[in-house]
Amino acid sequence: MRLLPVPVPPLVSRALGIFCVNTADRILAITYDDGPHPEHTPRILDVLAARGATATFFVLSRQAQKYPDIVRRIAAEGHEIGLHGRDHRSLLTLSTAGALSEIRKARAAVEAITGVPIVIYRPPYGEDSIPQAIAIPRLGLDVVMWSSDALDWVHDEEQTIADRAISGLSEGAILLLHDDRGDPETLAPGEPAPAFDRARVTDLIMEHLALHDYRTATVSSLIRDYRQVRSAAKQRISGR
Ligand SMILES: [Zn+2]
Repeated sequence: MRLLPVPVPPLVSRALGIFCVNTADRILAITYDDGPHPEHTPRILDVLAARGATATFFVLSRQAQKYPDIVRRIAAEGHEIGLHGRDHRSLLTLSTAGALSEIRKARAAVEAITGVPIVIYRPPYGEDSIPQAIAIPRLGLDVVMWSSDALDWVHDEEQTIADRAISGLSEGAILLLHDDRGDPETLAPGEPAPAFDRARVTDLIMEHLALHDYRTATVSSLIRDYRQVRSAAKQRISGR
């Protein structure tokens, strides 16, 4: 049987979100989800500043309202703030109208802290329905997924986590990291909460990037300057 090459309709391909960008330049985006966290986030910011790196923080408005000074610091130091939602509830538990309402409120709450418009959104667990994914960009938010995942929402050694992050990196990658774990209620019975040094993981990754002449950019500048890849082909493992 021969399959005719039927292009994926733009609406559907748009609904997949952005996984990475297509480039041979040694540039990529580091992203942190689920924060801000009162200890991890400031220490990560210290490491980024020391390394001259730029990152993107997909924050929960619940956390942002608890720690507004940290949110203002993220923005003041040249990093991008994206939205990860109000809490860490999966959009699949919400109707499209319900999801849009949550996203609008969460976005307004975070924008009120920094005064900077938010233009990118990452759904908790990377999960959304096709109707939701089609509707969210109409709010002026690009849906951003990731192309490499350090699995840093489970406890492990810093070097092991950094190695996992590094193994999935390539030009144009969007790396998923966490400055907090936003859903500790989903830990399995007896499973230890992650207790490793998140700033140390960032430093190990930065050391590798410096050694290989990679530059870092915010997600927004990466997806503005290069062709967006709206396919999960480069996505290795799904994460939190
Ligand atoms: Zn998350």
